[in-house]
Amino acid sequence: MYLLNAIIKNMAFTYPIVDIHTHIYPPTYLTLLRSRKTVPYLLDLPNQAAAPRLIILPSDDDASISPESRGRPIDNAYSSISEKLRFMDMHDIHTSIISLANPWLDFLSPEEGAVWARIINDELDVICMQNENRLYAFATLPLSASPPIIVDEINRLEEIPHIKGIILGTSGLGSGLDDPELNPIWTALEGTQTLIFLHPHYGLPSDVYGPRAGEYGHVLPLALGFPMETTIAFTRMWLSGVFDRFPRLKILIAHAGGTIPYLTGRIESCVQHERHLAAHEHGARGPKRDLRTVLRENVWLDAVVYSESSVKAAVELVGSERVLFGTDHPFFPPLDEREEEWSSVRTNVVAVGKNGARNMIMGWNAVKLLDLELAPR
Ligand code: URA
Ligand code: ZN
Repeated sequence: MYLLNAIIKNMAFTYPIVDIHTHIYPPTYLTLLRSRKTVPYLLDLPNQAAAPRLIILPSDDDASISPESRGRPIDNAYSSISEKLRFMDMHDIHTSIISLANPWLDFLSPEEGAVWARIINDELDVICMQNENRLYAFATLPLSASPPIIVDEINRLEEIPHIKGIILGTSGLGSGLDDPELNPIWTALEGTQTLIFLHPHYGLPSDVYGPRAGEYGHVLPLALGFPMETTIAFTRMWLSGVFDRFPRLKILIAHAGGTIPYLTGRIESCVQHERHLAAHEHGARGPKRDLRTVLRENVWLDAVVYSESSVKAAVELVGSERVLFGTDHPFFPPLDEREEEWSSVRTNVVAVGKNGARNMIMGWNAVKLLDLELAPR
C-alpha cells in the first residue's frame, strides 16, 4: 500500500533513478582539511592548475612518494554541487542522497567535532533546499564528542527537513560498533527511526597488504579492506546483541554489505560451533535474533557492487525491496577525463538491470524507504 501511494505521488516517472550512495566534501570541510598537517589533510601542489591531493590513508603520508602521486586527487567534482547535478543529468539520476565522504569528523577533538557536525549538517540542508527534490542528505555525527552531545545532534536532525538519515563509520566512539557505550546513541537512532548508512573508511591493518602494496595504489584497501571492514563492523554489532536490544534499528550497509552476502552461512556456522556463545545455565550468551532475521528486518544493502551475481546475492539475502542503487560518486571517475559517462556507474546500472526487481532497486525502494518526493521531470 505504501509503495502504491509513493508511485501515485510520483506518477511522472516510469521509474525514477535514485542514488543512495553519493558523497561530497563541502568547501568548508576542504578548508578544514587544508588547515591540517596530519592525516587526513589536503596537500596543494606547486602547479596550481593541478588538483590538490587528499592524504586520506596513513600509508599515503609518505614523503618518499612524490606529492603529485601521494594520496588521491581531489578535483572539483568532490565539492561542487553543479558538478554533482551535471553528473546526475549525465547518468539520468533524478535524486541523490548526498553524504559527507570519509573520514567524516572522526579525527576532530570533541569540541571541534560538535561544532563541525552542526556546520556540515546545516550546510547540507541548505544545499538540498537550493535543489529541492533533487538532493537530500545523510547527516554526520560528532562521534569524537560525548554521547549526550551526539544524542543532541541526532535529535536536532529531526528538525532539519532534508536529512534522511546519518552516515556512520565503523569506529563508533573509537572502540567499534559493539561498544556498550554506544547504547544511548542506538537508543536515539532507534527512537527517532533514523536510518544508519554504515560506510567503511579504515580498511584492514596495512601490513596485511604486504610490502608491495604501494605498487597497487588503493586497490587492496578499497577492493578488499573496505568490504572486510564493513563485514566485521556489522557482524560485531550483531554478535554483541545490538539488534536484540534495539530491534527497530534501520541500517543501510554500503557496497552491498561488503562480504556479508557471501559469508552469512560461515558466520552462522562459526557461531553455532562456538562454546563461548553456546547456551549455558544462565541462558544463551550469543545474539538472540538470528542473523538472517536481522538481515531481513533491519538491513538494507546498496547495489554498489559492480556485478550481476553480487546484486543477485544481495537480493536473495535481504529481499528485492531492500536493495538500492548507488554510484559512490565522485569516487571511481574514468581515468580518461574525456569520457563523460562513468564506466563505474554503467557497470552498476547494467548489473541491476539484469535483475527482475530493477525498477525497485533503481529508485522505488529508496522512494519508499526515505519517503521521497520527486519533482516532475
Ligand atoms: N569510496 C568512498 O566512499 N570513499 C573512499 O575513500 C573511496 C571510495
Ligand atoms: Zn562511499
